[in-house]
Order: sequence, then C-alpha cells, then structure tokens
Amino acid sequence: MSKETLEFQAETKQLLDLMINSIYTNREIFLRELISNASDAIDKLHFASLTNRELLEGDEDYEIFLVPDAASHTLTISDNGIGMTREEVIENLGTIAKSGTKAFLEQMKKAKEENQDISDKDLIGQFGVGFYSAFMVAEKVTVVTRKAGTQQAVRWESTADGSYTIEDCEKESRGTTVTLTLAKDFYGDSAEENFTENWKLQNLVKKYSDYVRYPIKMNFEVEETPKDDEGKPIEGAEKIKRTEIRTLNSMQPLWTRNKNEIKDEEYTEFFKNQFHEWEKPMEYFHTKAEGTVEYTSLLCIPAKAPFNLYHTDYEPGLQLYSRHVFIMDKCKDLLPDYLRFMKGLVDSPDLSLNISRELLQQSRELKSIGKALEKNILKTLGRLLSNDREKYEKFWNEYGKSLKIGIYNSMYSGSDTIDKLKDLLLFMTSQEGKLATLKEYVSRMPESQKKIYYATAKDKETIEHLPQMELLREKGLEVLYLLDPVDEFCIETLREYDGKQFHSISRGDLDLDDEASKEAKKETEDIAKKNDDLIKDIKETLGDKIAEVKVSTRLKSSAVCLVADEQGPSLSMEQTFAEMDNPLFKAKRILEINPHHELFARLQGIHEGGKDSQEFKDYCDLLYTQALLIEGILPENPVEFANKLAKLMAK
Ligand code: ADP
Repeated sequence: MSKETLEFQAETKQLLDLMINSIYTNREIFLRELISNASDAIDKLHFASLTNRELLEGDEDYEIFLVPDAASHTLTISDNGIGMTREEVIENLGTIAKSGTKAFLEQMKKAKEENQDISDKDLIGQFGVGFYSAFMVAEKVTVVTRKAGTQQAVRWESTADGSYTIEDCEKESRGTTVTLTLAKDFYGDSAEENFTENWKLQNLVKKYSDYVRYPIKMNFEVEETPKDDEGKPIEGAEKIKRTEIRTLNSMQPLWTRNKNEIKDEEYTEFFKNQFHEWEKPMEYFHTKAEGTVEYTSLLCIPAKAPFNLYHTDYEPGLQLYSRHVFIMDKCKDLLPDYLRFMKGLVDSPDLSLNISRELLQQSRELKSIGKALEKNILKTLGRLLSNDREKYEKFWNEYGKSLKIGIYNSMYSGSDTIDKLKDLLLFMTSQEGKLATLKEYVSRMPESQKKIYYATAKDKETIEHLPQMELLREKGLEVLYLLDPVDEFCIETLREYDGKQFHSISRGDLDLDDEASKEAKKETEDIAKKNDDLIKDIKETLGDKIAEVKVSTRLKSSAVCLVADEQGPSLSMEQTFAEMDNPLFKAKRILEINPHHELFARLQGIHEGGKDSQEFKDYCDLLYTQALLIEGILPENPVEFANKLAKLMAK
C-alpha cells in the first residue's frame, strides 16, 4: 500500500497539544512509558506463542534495545514483541480508543481552570495515554513495526501537527521500533536534559524500569588496555575500543527479595512500572505464605481510583506468576469484586503453567490464595480504620463506593460479605458533618432511640434543609447522610446493624419513643380524627399523584413534606431508577401536612367553603408541588405551578 496521510482523531489532537505544551514537568517518564509498552508487547507475544510456537520465528531471546544517537539526535527503543498490523497501528496510535481520554481532557481542563498545579495531578498515567508522552521530548516520532506471524511491516510517522503518515515498509525482525527525533531542548551538551547520553538513559532505566521482566540493553563503547596471557594489562600498549552490550535493568523480581531489604521507594517504583501507577500507592502488602498453598503476593491500593473503576470497560484483576514466570494478566478470580481496585501480583509454585486459563481460574489453589488475600486486605483495612483514621478516610473517599456496592451485591454473592464489610462502612452524619462508622453511630444513640435514622439527597445542604430534619435535630438525634445513590441500596441490603433497623426520615412512621413524641403522636391522631373530611378531600383532589395524605408528626416549621411508604422504593431510589430509564419502580408517595402550621388553619377555612371550589383545588395542588420541590423533584407542569402561585400572590 502506498503512503497515506491521515488525520488524528480530534481527541488525540487535543491530547498531543497538551503533551507538546507540556502539562507535565517530569518529561523523563516518557522512557518508562515506552519501555513498559515494549514489555507489554513482549508479554503478549510470549502469551500467544504458548499456543502458536511459529510466532517466535526462532527468536526466543526477548529483549528491549535502546539506541541513542547524538549525531542524528535520535533515541530508538525497539522490542521483539508482538508488533502491530497496519490496522492496529491506525487503531492504537491514531485514535484513542479508550473512553477515558475525554474524561482525561476534561479533568485537565478543570485543573487548569482551577489553577491547580497540574504536575501534581499526575493524570497522564491514570488515564493510560503512555505512547503520546513521547511527544513531550520528541518533535517527530517514527514507528516501524511488524506483527509476529505476518510479512508486511508498516511505518508510522508524525510530527504531532494534527496528522500522521503511514506506509508499507520492510522489517526483518518482528516487533516494534520507536524512534524519537528529539526536540532541541533534549539533546546536545548544552541541553538541560540530554536523552542521547548513555549514562542518563542508564540512570533512567535503573530509576523507573529496573524490574521490567525483559532485559533492556544498550551498547557501550569501552576502551581497554590489552591484556597478556595471564590476564594482566600490558603496560604501554595502545588502548583498544570495543562495543559492549550491557543489560541496564536487574530484572530480579522485587517480590522475591526479602521484605526487610526493600526500600519504600523501590516498592513505589515497582508499582509505577509494573502497574502503570503514577503515584505512590496508598498502601501496599508484601506477603509470603507457606501453608497448604505456597505463594508470594505483592499488592497495593493505588493512591487514586481510576476514573472508570465502576464502568464496564474497567478490567480488574491481579497478575499471576508461577516460579517468577508470568502466566496471566488481570486474573479476576482471586479477589471478590468489591476489591476490584486492588492492583498487584501473586507468584505461586503451586499454580500450574500448562493448564488452560479456564481450568486455572477454577483451581483449588487459586481459590485458597484468593481467600487468604481477601482476609489479609480486610484485616489491614480494619487496622487502618482504628489506627490511622485520616488515611482510612482517604481510602474511603476513593474506594468506599466499591465496598458499598459489595454490600448491595451480597444479594448474589452471599450474606457473609455483609459481615465482612459492615464495620468498614463510613457515612457522613449530622454530627458535625463528619464521617462515622455504624458502630460509632450506635454507640452514640440515646437509650430511647430504637432505630438508625438516615436521610437521602444529593448533598449535605439539601438534607440539612429538609423539613423532616428539624424535629430530629431538636431531639438531638443523629442522622446518617446518604449522598450517593448507591448508599441507600447498601442500607436497604443491610436492613439492620447491631439489631437496630435502619429508618429513612422520609419514610413511614419515625417511631420516636420518648415521652414528648408519644404525646405529640396522640395529639396528631386526635387532630387527624377531627379533620377526617379535610384529609379525605385533599387526597381526592390530588388523585393518583399521591397514595395517601396524613397529618404529620415529623414537621416543625414547614407546612408539608413528602414521604414514602415503608414498603417499596424511597423517593430518591425512584429518582435513581428513573435516571437509569427504569421508571417501573415507583415510590408510594405520602403527603404529610403540619397541623400546627398556620396554613393548616387556612386550609380548614377554605375547605369549609366547599371541596369543589377552585381555590381549594389550587391550594391542594400548591401544597403537593411544594412538597415535591423540597425533595428536589421538579413539578410535572412548572408553568401551571407558577401561574397558580402568581394568582395567589396577586390576591
Ligand atoms: P496503553 O499502553 O496504556 O494501552 P499507549 O498509548 O501507550 O496506551 O499505547 C496504545 C496501544 O498501542 C497499546 O495498548 C498497544 O496496543 C499499542 N502499542 C504501543 N506500543 C507498542 C509496542 N511497542 N508494541 C506493540 N504495540 C504497542
């Protein structure tokens, strides 16, 4: 095929612009990114070769080669990995297939607008846009690649000016060669950073890529004094120059080393390299077990949750090794789904290399390792919660949702998940707006309080303004704030904690047990009895919009509120379902009216004038719409509402 010039996809263009105008000050990491792509490509080839030996083309010496060239100011990174076909090159290097790119660009924009220090945000790695980081140091990038098992090689080239060229070419060995023509700040003796210098590259490899599983090699020119037969240098002889290939990385798997001898930074670099992490992990675990199943594991909780953690395109899972030989990436069957954010690897001599993926995933050894890891992680989280609250809350903010979804999913995974997770949950509460565990909440409950109260809304302020909150606040009762739609599903699944039921302040009867509340309840019942007709007529006027009208015991200064019945979904769950296009789940709406509000007396007056009067109908409707608005629900017909209100105001 002849040479073609193609446009980058719009988002790729934006991303390239960001790279060139460097959003990231630590430009040297481009090398790590390209080496890690090369290493991934070799992994892929190795994996494919297990079932198709021909792909190896007789070359099993996996390696990554760096060739700096000061004269042409280029740096070449080549690998003998899987390579790419023409289509794959276009797909992988011309477009950004991942849905994350948009999110990445938006985050960048936001960070810029908010004047945040972008270099701190370390966003590039979080969104996996590694290859393009080459443009942070290169004015031109040339990729020559041949896919293992095919004949035709292709050459891709771009100066990041919005387009790239692609053409057929020759390449003897399989794999990929990435050549960077360095931009002027990055070569030559006067450059601040010279990426054509051997020692510089050597240091970078040591720093960022020491544990890469394949040798990263580079040529070194060495000058030597010739030696005599006994190996002694011959004095006065002219030095001879020769080229020596050196391997720059130790390749010794970090996890095989003794824990006590590994420095914190070494762990951090390891996770950055191996798992494309960008920041120091929040927490890591390095364990060796020698029980019925022998294994070593090295896991971490990444500092930041990936943007797509809860999307279907996120692939959870740990890497598997057997006797330090890589067998599988992203093995999902080790950890339960609620720990999907964990990254890391397991190396066990008890895992067989030669069985199929499917059989491996069902193996008894794998299950038993998984169970032990889960236990370990939960124990560490528990310890963190009691010993380092600040850190735990950070963890919670990143990954709490995962645990809450875990509780909800225990409907399928089994109720022991609830027991494992319930004491790790945190909720914001009305107590100083701080996060609390359920245990802490229960320990603060006064004796007369029988239930754990909660309120749902999109944010704290909305809850604090809910009319229902007023009474609870007055009585000094603490309320859990459920601010994420998943919270309520989690609470509904839990049903109770420590024998105490959860109770929404916007649902059913509040069941307050103190003397004053009992009295208020009785009084309300009397009022309700006396106003039986009024209540009945409001219900009749509002028709299907509501299931019931009640005289309220939970309101203080507000005239009305909307609550849901004990049975069925709550109002906020109804909203969540509606957003998911699932309008089948309707809450049973109950309109509660405050008998002590002056509006109630007014209503009684109008009602005496006849239930069929337009005025009474308008009042009923306005009451209902008000209650909707308080819940954050828009009226079905806002214009009609506004007109009625205007009419009333003009009176
Ligand atoms: P990521 O590595 O996070 O997927 P990149 O932008 O670094 O994102 O790379 C995009 C894709 O290009 C990779 O997923 C891979 O399929 C392909 N690719 C990049 N470098 C190589 C390489 N050296 N050999 C084969 N494929 C590569």
